[in-house]
Amino acid sequence: MSGSRKAAFLDRDGVINVDYGYVSAWENFEFLPGAAAALQALYRAGYQLVVVSNQSGIGRGFYTEHDLMTLNREISIHLRDEFDTHISGFYHCPHHPTEALGLLRMVCDCRKPAPGMLLRAARELDLELSESLLVGDKSSDILAGRAAGVRRMFKVGDPLNQNYAATDTETVSALSEVPGRLITRAN
Ligand SMILES: [Mg+2]
Ligand SMILES: [Zn+2]
Repeated sequence: MSGSRKAAFLDRDGVINVDYGYVSAWENFEFLPGAAAALQALYRAGYQLVVVSNQSGIGRGFYTEHDLMTLNREISIHLRDEFDTHISGFYHCPHHPTEALGLLRMVCDCRKPAPGMLLRAARELDLELSESLLVGDKSSDILAGRAAGVRRMFKVGDPLNQNYAATDTETVSALSEVPGRLITRAN
């Protein structure tokens, strides 16, 4: 499992956009301050941008795969037109082990903290996980990154209120802080 390109794996809700809960339409998609510019900075620094998002709202029947694809397209168009920035892939898990309906109710290998979405992206997009980074706002994001072998991880949260201590994870107040961290720790 090794590719040639480095990726920035990005959780969506609470990292890129305001987490209103089950956001499924562009009208309810609100970029967090500085998030789009941070995506641009990561893109310009040579990272493939890959969104990895648990979307059990699909399994729960709140919205459809088509709704999510429509939203992803809007996000892509906005970032392309306003920031000259390309998202290499959107990956989502529609499942939930107990709350999803029908065939989507299952224990899958893609719902974070499982690493399935990252591993699939690495395969499909030729990514080198050990050169990649991840930004998430929940411990399940970090656990998925760790299980996949992502080298550097950032957890969005209040630095003064972290009950999450891990030596492989840096705390940031927002995605907008991440590009600066990469510069200050040159490697
Ligand atoms: Mg999140
Ligand atoms: Zn899944």
